[in-house]
Amino acid sequence: MIDYKKIINNQKKYFLTRATYSIDFRINQLRKLKYLIEKNESNICNALMKDLGKCEFESYVSEISFVISELNYIINNLRTWCKDNKVKTPITSLPGKSYIVKEPYGSVLVIGPWNYPFHLIFSPIIGAIAAGNCVVVKPSELSPNISALITNIINKNFNPCYIYSAEGGIEETTSLLSLKWDYIFFTGSVNVGKVVMEAASKNLTPLTLELGGKSPCIVDKDSDLLVSAKRIVWGKFFNTGQTCIAPDYLFIHKDIVKKFIPLLIKYIKNFYGENAINSSHYGRIINDKHFDRLTSYFKDGNIIYGGETSKENLYISPTLIVGTKTNSPLMSEEIFGPILPILQFSNLNEIIYFINNRPKPLALYYFSKNENNISKIIKETSSGSVCINETLSQINTHYLPFGGVGTSGMGKYHGKWSYETFTHHKSVMKRSFLLDLKIKYPPYNLPAKNIRKFIEY
Ligand code: NAD
Repeated sequence: MIDYKKIINNQKKYFLTRATYSIDFRINQLRKLKYLIEKNESNICNALMKDLGKCEFESYVSEISFVISELNYIINNLRTWCKDNKVKTPITSLPGKSYIVKEPYGSVLVIGPWNYPFHLIFSPIIGAIAAGNCVVVKPSELSPNISALITNIINKNFNPCYIYSAEGGIEETTSLLSLKWDYIFFTGSVNVGKVVMEAASKNLTPLTLELGGKSPCIVDKDSDLLVSAKRIVWGKFFNTGQTCIAPDYLFIHKDIVKKFIPLLIKYIKNFYGENAINSSHYGRIINDKHFDRLTSYFKDGNIIYGGETSKENLYISPTLIVGTKTNSPLMSEEIFGPILPILQFSNLNEIIYFINNRPKPLALYYFSKNENNISKIIKETSSGSVCINETLSQINTHYLPFGGVGTSGMGKYHGKWSYETFTHHKSVMKRSFLLDLKIKYPPYNLPAKNIRKFIEY
């Protein structure tokens, strides 16, 4: 195995040279990254096709353009973000100045998953570089073509003392996690998130956990049924359902169920044809293990559409299931594939109760035209994000932080939040030598009550 200890030690030495503190240096590295990504666009698309059967359009939209757009936004704003922030100084410390200095952590470990294997490695790297850190990334071994390409792009073009890509699986990740990092950024499952947090706790390393879970999608009786069905089918079956924020299960108001299900089927057929295996816009399941896990859910209800499979092609057609019990594996485990369980509801309070009695979701979708109900859903449930009358799009903006809450994760990134995540906000107070009130020093001659008003001012 590669000597990771040597790599991190070299990064720590390099970090101490303070080369990465220079804003010009950071911007040049981000520009270099942008150039390399643009140069490798077709290699990235080819690797994604091999690993996930992902079509060029989805690869471009969800992996490449997202990263390029983050790069542009961060490059354009970095100088402003890096400035010290002046704040007020309390009367008790005058004359003096107070401000916040933005400081990089040092060496950062980024661990990624396989479902958006390019985007979910490069998006955190951008934040880490922007904030002035050195980085080691560990792409997922389950998307081997992208993992090899990322390693090639990084290790051929960057000094390993600054950025390094370490390929490997559990053994290598365990070994990396045993080292003393200054920050860890993990994207993956809840169970592995716990392993990462336990490892981080040994060195008290701060961390971000971008995890998963079951994201509910609710369609109320007053929503625009055609648009809702179209957007739900798009968000559920994009990347073959292997999206952390995909609608995991659907609650439809009982009054519209009969009208709504045919619309879901209509859009599945519109998007992928009668037989999705022939569609060049429909991807494949990542591996045999996930194929077996997903097809095992078929027994948890009645398939009303889809259910066709081909293990040889790692293909599962877009599948709609009704009649599932809420305690079945289909309704208790994260699905992470093209299977959509459909349940009915009659009262919004039931749904709110249902959601609030389960782990907090990464995303929550609600389709309705009723402003009171929209506001009730937003106020009375907790989730990483809420998206009203749309799916997935809440992630595609620099202006909203992305992250989970509770078991769906901790910490946030994208846009300015990516920079903030990898930055230590150091408080600085600078006092003048003038005016040194005697009353604060022992022996204390004034009763505490006499100075209360002054201190609490
Ligand atoms: P995973 O947790 O199995 O693997 C993630 C990474 O951890 C991989 O690099 C893997 O090599 C490593 N790993 C796996 N087992 C490990 C172990 N025992 N010890 C140390 N490292 C280990 O996740 P995955 O299957 O790659 O991705 C799917 C999960 O990720 C889903 O739960 C999904 O919701 C979640 N996800 C979350 C986000 C988000 O932004 N919140 C994005 C994508 C995926």
